Amino acid sequence: MQPCPVYINGEWRAAEGVATTPVYNPSVGEVIAEAPLCQAHHVHEAVEAAAEAYPAWSENPPMERARVFFRFKALLDDHFDELVQCNTREHGKTLVESRGDVRRGIEMVEFACGIPSLLMGESLENIAHGIDCDTIRQPLGVCVGVTPFNFPAMVPLWMYPVALICGNTFVLKPSEKVPLTALKIVKLLEDAGLPKGVLNVVHGGRECVDALLTHPKVKAISFVGSTPVARHIFEVGTRHGKRVQSNGGAKNYVVLMPDADVENSVRGVVEAAYGCAGERCMAASTAAVVGEAATQVLPRLIEAARAIKVGPTDREPQPQMGPLITRQHRDRVAQLIDQGAKEGARIAADGRGVQLDGAPNGFFLGATVLDHVQPVMTVAQEEIFGPVLNVMRFEDLDSAIAAVNRSPYGNGASIFTRSGKAAREFKHRVNCGMVGINIGVPASMAWFPFNGWNDSFFGDLHMQGKEGVQFFTRQKVSMTRWFSFGEGDIWHKA
Ligand code: NAD
Repeated sequence: MQPCPVYINGEWRAAEGVATTPVYNPSVGEVIAEAPLCQAHHVHEAVEAAAEAYPAWSENPPMERARVFFRFKALLDDHFDELVQCNTREHGKTLVESRGDVRRGIEMVEFACGIPSLLMGESLENIAHGIDCDTIRQPLGVCVGVTPFNFPAMVPLWMYPVALICGNTFVLKPSEKVPLTALKIVKLLEDAGLPKGVLNVVHGGRECVDALLTHPKVKAISFVGSTPVARHIFEVGTRHGKRVQSNGGAKNYVVLMPDADVENSVRGVVEAAYGCAGERCMAASTAAVVGEAATQVLPRLIEAARAIKVGPTDREPQPQMGPLITRQHRDRVAQLIDQGAKEGARIAADGRGVQLDGAPNGFFLGATVLDHVQPVMTVAQEEIFGPVLNVMRFEDLDSAIAAVNRSPYGNGASIFTRSGKAAREFKHRVNCGMVGINIGVPASMAWFPFNGWNDSFFGDLHMQGKEGVQFFTRQKVSMTRWFSFGEGDIWHKA
């Protein structure tokens, strides 16, 4: 069993006397740690520590704050393999996928190291005779991050590197299902020289999060998770006067046009639908097959899904796809497949009942394709968050775009085509914030906003990129006038 301490005011310690929740190795179904369900008094201590650390940290020159993160980035590189192993063990994604997760997190740190230049303000001379105007950016105070299970390394790193280099202090509440990678990463930041109290970590579920959301000393909340919780965080946080950026769930479409390059688009869609076992907010959940793509591309896609090898990820040889996060989640996804079939979808590839030698208790489900899905079906409406690809058939691009735009979500949508005109129409008209043209997973990189729309995002300023810096700072505008030279002024020339 691995320890799962809280980190408050520079001290690593067990949160004693509270209930715990199990952290699994999903490949074998064994408990590897117990995450404490922290209560309001832990949250209070963590927020107080962050509030106490704030004056000194925020007065540090931005370059000095960034310097800690240059050292942090070097430590992340040195410990890359260890972080990847830990990530795979507690989450279940393959080692290749964990490398992507950790690498994307490191890219956030690389971006954040350059933030001092994004903190620069603007100025205009002579806004009226003899009056100059300028803006500066200042930090907010204590900020909070609450993260989901599916990217244990990357998502916490979307938040605190930016918040801290902007001059804020922070309390992180990682997912109680995968707290171990986040803790290892925070330890490296401590080793890089972060002063005590600047970053704190608590664990838990709703009780802990609600205490963070409503604490009077918390100024801003960054959240990533499912849509119902994202909406709750946004509503409660803003009602308590906090700045909130809250990323929700998704249901993303990939449109396959009849002129799509068959092999490349099949590879792109398979990777988008089944990468990380479909547990990605940018996963392709529906293939919208247009016209003859149903005969030209779809059969190859189904064949490729059936060929995906599922298996435990905590050993060699590595499979193509790992387990789901918990038994309960695996069973929920399997039930949704049953429900889809009951409501009239045809199961073209069936991942239920996968049996694996050597890992009988892992939370496995094979790659599944549900064909002839209709918009009214449960599987078309609910976020499945597993290795299930719905197929919907359309006569033309217009009707495929209309279907994409009926979705209440708005994270990503992709098109596979050889036609520049079709791609341009699609990019212009789809009602979502991240678009892929011959790219299955258009998840934006650290320098661009992670740009969900509609029910995939609540707030105004997204994570990553310049919007992230804007979220964690507020502007001060000042106007300056100096009166005319007075009597005895040494600069006065008579
Ligand atoms: P989740 O909503 O169950 O949990 C996310 C976080 O919220 C966790 O830290 C959890 O402890 C906390 N939480 C859970 N219920 C809560 C409640 N009632 N009140 C307060 N806090 C609560 O999400 P998950 O299952 O961990 O992650 C998967 C979800 O995250 C999917 O819906 C996925 O699409 C979404 N996601 C979105 C993005 C994005 O950027 N849009 C990125 C990754 C994941």
